[in-house]
Amino acid sequence: YSTLRLVLGDQLNASHSWYKKTDEEVLYLVAELNQEATYVKHHIQKVSAFFAAMEAFSHALSQAGHHVCYLTLDDTQHYDNLPALVADLCERYQIKTFEYQRPDEYRLDEQLKEMALPQAVTMTCVDTEHFLLPYDQIPKQFTADKHRKMEYFYRDMRRQFGILMEGESPEGGRWNFDQDNRNKLKKSDLAAIPTPLVFSNDVRDILARIERHHVATIGEPARDLLWPVTRAQAKLLLDHFCRHCLPMFGQFQDAMTGRSEHQWSLYHSRLSFALNAKLLHPMQVIETAIAHFRATDDVNLAQIEGFVRQILGWREYVRGVYWANMPAYANKNALSAQRPLPRFFWTGDTKMRCLSKAVNQSLQTAYAHHIQRLMVTGNFCLLAGIAPDEVDDWYLSIYIDAIEWVEMPNTRGMTQFADNGLVATKPYAASGAYINRMSDYCSDCHYSVKEKTGEKACPLNALYWHFMHRHRERFAHNPRTAMPYRNWDKMDEGQRDKIISHADDLLDNLDAL
Ligand code: FAD
Repeated sequence: YSTLRLVLGDQLNASHSWYKKTDEEVLYLVAELNQEATYVKHHIQKVSAFFAAMEAFSHALSQAGHHVCYLTLDDTQHYDNLPALVADLCERYQIKTFEYQRPDEYRLDEQLKEMALPQAVTMTCVDTEHFLLPYDQIPKQFTADKHRKMEYFYRDMRRQFGILMEGESPEGGRWNFDQDNRNKLKKSDLAAIPTPLVFSNDVRDILARIERHHVATIGEPARDLLWPVTRAQAKLLLDHFCRHCLPMFGQFQDAMTGRSEHQWSLYHSRLSFALNAKLLHPMQVIETAIAHFRATDDVNLAQIEGFVRQILGWREYVRGVYWANMPAYANKNALSAQRPLPRFFWTGDTKMRCLSKAVNQSLQTAYAHHIQRLMVTGNFCLLAGIAPDEVDDWYLSIYIDAIEWVEMPNTRGMTQFADNGLVATKPYAASGAYINRMSDYCSDCHYSVKEKTGEKACPLNALYWHFMHRHRERFAHNPRTAMPYRNWDKMDEGQRDKIISHADDLLDNLDAL
């Protein structure tokens, strides 16, 4: 071979132009690496899913006539890191050109850029051909340390790609149907929640490897992995989503319930792993969903717009924020949050029903839907002032789809306001009332959502006011948060003191909640 091409675990894009023709001189390298399995303590299903998808991808490449070197943890255990492995292979095969696709993570991008190879080897970096906004256009849309409104970015993307457009105008005359969406699930809605499509990928060999190499993980292992690990499975999941979930996607996007067997999946697509591993292309997902919307009567514009916004808007947006702001972004802590993460984030053992549901489900499935991540776990960490490094690590560890470029702006930015408003225009801080409005958790909870103080009071209530109170200088002048301060000021002083002192007690004993 004269060329070695590296395919990272989240670069499983079979449509990449690399694979348009076979070449006897090219060797593809796909490798299970200790450095990737351990840069945080991942959920065991996440490691299994990546390895299973990498194996299946390598197999498909070989079937298509390409030369592939698939290395397991057994094969790579004696290499310190990725550069050591690549350098060794270059030497062994007398490689002249080493090519790689630009990593989506700053960490890997730096590692590959700084890699020292034998002198005769030239190194080339190519695009992953995955994202819709070309990498070199990120600086045109995003500036370091400057807020870019998602809504305007999204409109630009709609125009640029002609998605749901009628000439220069948005289809249906509105860009955004959020107001029509966001309903609570009523009791009578529960029976209709679709049965999720799950796979049953046998990953016993992978689990054995993970154990053999003492890779420390969290969460419940699954011998039969429910996540899609091939493009064919991902397409089935996309099709299932379009038929069964898309008709109600927007409407119940923010809803949560503890009373349905399918509470963990609801109307969500669960396509994030397939997208982030690049088994699916974002435009393929958008076009398939729009084709379904056009072909049937059961999906209205508000539902499809809500879905397109997530992928054409949010997903591309957070990637832009990430690259425009790294590496400084990883150290941002605008609210000086310092507390350690309570233990129940790792065990699910808490009396707060909303948190117990979100954490236990995450440990079981490596998944929680957006509003659980944003308004349950994220909101709790924000209110309690948990150190953003700890919060980031938790999200990066636990979710099947967690890769830093998408995890960090969502966590540090959107939920923790640690970037001082680069992503969110106001902190996503909420008391128990929000959880009660969007879920049925509170009526079955140990705590009482109506009370602010006392042993039985929902901890989110006092923590919410403590948060608002301690950050008054920062948020009182923000028109989007002015209202709560007016309500706070209307409370009598004794009541306010009681709330703050109750919250202080809670903050001193977070592990006991
Ligand atoms: P659906 O609800 O079906 O949405 C469809 C798709 O839209 C998703 O698959 C995803 O690709 C995209 N999307 C939706 N919201 C976002 C968003 N805010 N940012 C980026 N893409 C979005 N998403 C990840 O892919 N990886 C992460 O590590 C991650 N960490 C998060 C951490 C926090 C604190 C929060 C609040 C959100 C995070 N998200 C992350 C975004 C979002 O919650 C997940 O993409 C979504 O829950 C995945 O489930 P789904 O595929 O069923 O999504």
